[in-house]
Parts: sequence; structure tokens; C-alpha cells
Amino acid sequence: MATLRVVLGDQLSRSLSALDGLDRSRDVVLMMEVREEATYVPHHRQKLVLVLSAMRHFAESLRAEGVTVDYVALDHPENRGSFTQELGRALERHQVERVVATEPGEWRVWEAMRGWEEAYGIPVKIREDRRFLCSREAFTTWAQGRKALRMEFFYREMRRSTGWLMDGEKPVGGRWNYDPENRKPLPSDARVPPRQRFVPDPVTRKVMALVESRFPDHFGELENFGWAVTREQALESLHHFVTVCLPSFGDYQDAMRTGEDFLFHAVLSPYLNIGLLEPQEVCELALEAYAAGSVPLTATEGFLRQILGWREYVRGLYWLRMPGYAETNFLDARRPLPGFFWTADTELRCLRETIKATRRNAYAHHIQRLMITGNFALLAGLAPAEVEAWYLVVYADAFEWVELPNTHGMALHADGGLLGSKPYAASGAYIDRMSDYCRDCAFSPKVKLGEGACPFNYLYWHFLSVNASRLKGNPRMAMPYRTLARMTDDRRAAIEHQARQFLDALD
Ligand code: FAD
Ligand code: SF4
Repeated sequence: MATLRVVLGDQLSRSLSALDGLDRSRDVVLMMEVREEATYVPHHRQKLVLVLSAMRHFAESLRAEGVTVDYVALDHPENRGSFTQELGRALERHQVERVVATEPGEWRVWEAMRGWEEAYGIPVKIREDRRFLCSREAFTTWAQGRKALRMEFFYREMRRSTGWLMDGEKPVGGRWNYDPENRKPLPSDARVPPRQRFVPDPVTRKVMALVESRFPDHFGELENFGWAVTREQALESLHHFVTVCLPSFGDYQDAMRTGEDFLFHAVLSPYLNIGLLEPQEVCELALEAYAAGSVPLTATEGFLRQILGWREYVRGLYWLRMPGYAETNFLDARRPLPGFFWTADTELRCLRETIKATRRNAYAHHIQRLMITGNFALLAGLAPAEVEAWYLVVYADAFEWVELPNTHGMALHADGGLLGSKPYAASGAYIDRMSDYCRDCAFSPKVKLGEGACPFNYLYWHFLSVNASRLKGNPRMAMPYRTLARMTDDRRAAIEHQARQFLDALD
């Protein structure tokens, strides 16, 4: 039976279920660059180049195998601009008896895909996406009947089921979690390895020109483009990470330093999310390095927790709770996103440096996302939908299944604690401890109130105060609420006053 096999821009894996049973003599693989996907949010230009160039390279690798690929370029004169419309046009070109696809990563595309069969009167088989370590079904089974869906318990289940870092029924080393060891600030004399960059080849340069001309107003610099665009390059990045960065990954996982945009982080999320790498091989290589004695247990566990734990967990949660998940706003946050999230034009140095790095690289590491931009959005009561749209735009790895739970749940606590047992709210002291941003800032983390006070300080207490009815009963918030209660009325009023002034100026 001749089959049209659809491969989307974040499905660039040879093991993709849509390619199972591919018959080179009759089947056609359809790949589509469409305007709707490039503009449903105005993606960072590096993200567009990454996806489009990786798609073009993937199509070439299939063709080299003798596969017929029907590739619709963004600037094709007849391109109708959406997956559904382009599928219709492709069905006019090819005599096929069925369409096969792999379930997409975003609810929006899932809804469109489910309408294809009816729209075109042809059988459409949507297969499971097997490129995860936990299936949607297995996650649903794990979640059933649980009051709290904590990542920690999910992760332990995953450790047991994979047998990774397990000593029989017990975790290797006797502990499940080495987080406390993985929170060191970076010593001033620490040497950070340079990021591995790939010089854009002719295919990438062509896409860069296309993106420059079609999306001149999109966020982000393009000059710095150094992402891997083929599986071979992505594998090179993986090996570089495991041999050069992973040994120090654990220790400095939460550290931040001006001008060091990548530190010891993997910088692999875009490759995992578009399919150039698979989570299994990434984890296995890290475990091999541990077994060979070249990576400590703390770093290996810290890394495994991110991929086997967090990445699988947020994906499970997304599919379990969508489409309603995006609608909640537990803290009733409504302030519009300030313009400096796009321009980096702010006196708050931690925010300025993080946003500048984001613009430069389409990347910021986890703690910058969570404890700088995310923490600010939380404390300032920014509207979840606006913050989520920003996160979806600015990172090369941003796809809704992973971006939304991280932003909505982890950073903004907008899901009321489904993902995190308490909000990740912090004052300037945390940022000062974990970074060097405060050194040259117009404000001081040591000053709590009045002239020169770090805005994170008074915004933190203001946040607790305005959300007391929602958060005070949370046992994990008891300590800060006790401290707030001990403050004099005058001090509380002064905090309120300065926070209001600051927030009004944002508006
Ligand atoms: P490392 O820190 O080196 O971690 C290794 C790998 O673990 C990553 O490549 C990633 O695949 C996985 N990982 C780590 N933390 C998470 C997590 N919380 N959720 C899922 N996977 C994780 N990640 C995305 O892939 N896409 C997003 O759109 C995204 N948006 C985020 C938004 C916010 C507000 C926050 C707080 C986090 C977000 N993350 C997102 C998670 C995390 O910040 C990134 O995966 C990580 O920074 C990617 O860089 P890295 O590859 O150097 O990761
Ligand atoms: Fe950020 Fe406050 Fe430090 Fe300035 S003083 S860098 S605003 S935490």
C-alpha cells in the first residue's frame, strides 16, 4: 500500500514511528516548512534557522538512503502556509492509499492532525511517539489515584524501571538525590570550557538568508548561530559534553556568571527536542562515563534526574492535563510583560545579562530561566499567558510540551502546585550567592528597602503579602510567612509602598 509519511520539524529521527515499515519503492516522505509554524509565535531567529536547516539536512540524509522525499520549502510559490493545507496539496500530487504520521509534541498540532482524515477522506494513522523513556499511557497509569504528582516519586519509578544507577532495589550510593551537593557557586578562578560551535554550512547559510528576509522583526541575533544541524554534529556535542563538561555539571548546575552563557551545561535540549538525539543514548553515554570512573556519582545522578526525571515528567504532565492546563491562573497574576523582556533595557543587571544572553544565543540555562526571568515574572505578578508566549519565542529548545509545564507550573506556580510543592520565589540574596551579577548592579542585594534596594528584595515580601490567602496554608511556606508576621506594620507598609512604585513604573 503506497503511503504518505509525514515528518514534522521536531521529528528528525530515523527511528520515528512514522517511518516504520517504509517501502522505498512506493512510499513518499512529506516534509513541510509552513508559515503558520514559523509565526504562531514570533520565534527567535536562531530557533527558526535551527529547525529549518536540520529539516533540510534530515531530508538529504533520507534521500541518500534512496527514500523519496517531497520537501516543501517555505518560499515555494504555492506553499499554502499550514500543515493541513499543505497535506491537501501533497495528496493532489501523490497517489497514496493512506497517510501515516507520528503524534506531534504540541496540543495545537495534535488537534489539527486529528482532523486530517475527515478533511481529506483518506485513512490517517497517527502513531505513538516512542522517542521518550515513559509513554503517555505509562505516565497516566502512574498518575492515576495519586493526590500529588511529584517529580521525585516519578523519577524513582523511572530509576527502578530502567535499572539506571540502581543497586538492586536501592539507589547506587544509598541516596536518590544529590541536589544538595549540586548547588555550589562558581569559584572566581574556575575555568569554563568554550561552547562547541558548528560553523554554518551552505545549507544553513541559505536558511539564514531566508529567515533574515522573511522574519526581520523576530527576536534574537543570528550572527552567533553555532547550533548542530545534523545528527552527526549533535552526537559530537553529546560526546563533548560527557567528556568535557559532565564531570563538573553537578557541582555548578545552579551557578551563574556574567559572560559565561553555557558553563558546564549540556546545551543538548534543542537536539533532544527536535529528534537529532534520543534521551536513551544520552543517558547511556553519561552512565558509561560514570562506570568508567570519569564522572562522579553526584554529577551523573544530577544529569540523569534532568532527562529521565524532569524531561519525561513534564511531558507526561502536559499530555495528562492539556488543554485545560494552560488556562489556570492560581495566583491571579495579570500584569502585562514589561518591554525590557525584549530589549534587555533594564537597570536590574541579572535580568539584563540573562535577556542579553538569550537574545545572543537563543539559550539560557535552567537557573537563569527559573531564578532570574522566571522569579521576576512570579514576584511581579506577570500574566502567565504573556510570560509563556515569551518563553516559547526566545529559546531554541522551546516546544510547548516542555515549555508550558516549566513556565506555567515550575516558574509561575500558575497551576496551584500541581508541579511544584511551593513557588520558586527568591530575594536578591539567592541571586547574589549564585552569581556575580550583583557586583556591578545599580542596586544592592544587601539593601532591603529604600534607596538602592534590590527590587527582588521588596518584591519578594510584597509577593508573599498579596498572595497570603493562597500560600499561607502551604507548610513549605511557613517560615517566610512567620518572618513576614514578625515585621512591624511600618516596615510592611514601606515594602508595600516601594513595591507598588516599582510595579507601577513597569506598567
Ligand atoms: P542541562 O541543564 O544541561 O540539562 C540536561 C538536559 O536535561 C536538558 O538538555 C534537557 O533535555 C533536560 N532538562 C533539564 N531540566 C529540564 C526541565 N526542567 N524540563 C525538561 N527537561 C529538562 N527545556 C526545554 O527543553 N524547552 C523549553 O522550552 C524549556 N523551557 C523552560 C522554561 C522555564 C521557565 C524553565 C524554568 C525551564 C525550561 N526548560 C525548558 C528546562 C531547562 O531549563 C532546559 O531544558 C535546559 O536549560 C536546557 O539546557 P541544557 O541542555 O544545557 O540543559
Ligand atoms: Fe539582580 Fe538585585 Fe543583584 Fe541587581 S542587586 S543583579 S537586581 S539580584
